[in-house]
Amino acid sequence: MTEQLYFVDSERLGKKTLEKKHRLEQEPCSRQNHMEYMEGMECISSDIMQRVLGEMKGYDPEAYTDEDVRKALVHDVCSIEDFKAFLSPAAMPYLEEMAVRAKSETEKHFGNTVYLFTPLYLANYCENYCVYCGFNCYNDIVRKKLSHEEMKKEMEIIARSGIEEILLLTGESQSVSDLSYIGEACRLAAGYFRNVGLEIYPVNTEEYRYLHECGADYVTVFQETYDTDRYEELHLLGRKRVFPYRFDAQERAVMGGMRGVAFSALLGLADFRKDAFASALHVYYLQRKYPQAEYSLSCPRLRPIINNDKVDARDVHERELCQILCAYRLFLPYVGITVSSREQKHFRNGIVKIAATKVSAGVSTGVGDHERKYEGKRVGEAGDEQFEILDDRSLEQMYEDLEQEGLQPVMNDYVYV
Ligand code: SF4
Repeated sequence: MTEQLYFVDSERLGKKTLEKKHRLEQEPCSRQNHMEYMEGMECISSDIMQRVLGEMKGYDPEAYTDEDVRKALVHDVCSIEDFKAFLSPAAMPYLEEMAVRAKSETEKHFGNTVYLFTPLYLANYCENYCVYCGFNCYNDIVRKKLSHEEMKKEMEIIARSGIEEILLLTGESQSVSDLSYIGEACRLAAGYFRNVGLEIYPVNTEEYRYLHECGADYVTVFQETYDTDRYEELHLLGRKRVFPYRFDAQERAVMGGMRGVAFSALLGLADFRKDAFASALHVYYLQRKYPQAEYSLSCPRLRPIINNDKVDARDVHERELCQILCAYRLFLPYVGITVSSREQKHFRNGIVKIAATKVSAGVSTGVGDHERKYEGKRVGEAGDEQFEILDDRSLEQMYEDLEQEGLQPVMNDYVYV
């Protein structure tokens, strides 16, 4: 059963809504089967999910020993077995050696560059009930969707700061933030930025193709957890509840012509070692099937949300996060690794010298909040934030800090010819 601390208090909900919410939380039989597709969801018959889940099932992090880690450390190429050892508790005493190896791999493939981007939340409406998220449909927050004019204004402000890569996000509401609304945002963004990423609800191949034609370059989808039982307990309502449709989203995006795809589990929801293993394996198999695409991994940890400050990443501390990122770098040497503003400044400053290649700057996870953030003023009401951030440095501060660390900040690494 899902732990009670994730559930949001919702004193202002009507009686009927409260009853439905309570039923969803307490009675598994009242929920849609999370492994069955809903109407309109495309099934691409890929074998990657079965392979990843099969490998994950057979992975017992506790079974790995000191000797397994030492053997893995002397191999030039990190095998799946070596990766399992690097992610195990037995590898914790070898963190320093792993970091030295990871740093050398990062420098080999990325030099001393660090890519910068910023997210822009277009809306915070959501039709899903993910119990750990501030945007979930039962959480009582200020909801907002940017109009065309508001989007333009936000993009102008962000572009003026020097940002060249933007990640457009919506909550997952197909009725409020429909495909044409997102397509319009992509067209607008393509006029201001050189790289446009999307983090929206998963869609079918042809819909990804449409968004790519509108100007989107890459797609980010977080699977949240690869543990299907835990996924079932945490995603109680809406299209997101369908695990396999979400799993295949990146593959559909690549089939639809997207240049790149990004992956992650939300660390802290289930066994984080197994989730980290499955996330990287998801990339590994897809990369072999579609070598032309660009791949990246993120490593978000749970953060407190509005109306629930108990939501947190519990057993995933900075040392464990560092272990995961070093293991990712050793297993997938040329894959991008993003560290978001969910993490503290000191952690981000350190990890970009070892394993990470991309960080966000000038971040607001609210809707329509950049005017306040960048220019110190606020017009109209902004929508509430998805989660609390820990590093609120502006682009300028981040740029300076990276240079001081001897790194080279990069605003864009892609040129269309
Ligand atoms: S995690 Fe995404 S889908 Fe789930 S409630 Fe939050 S915004 Fe909606």
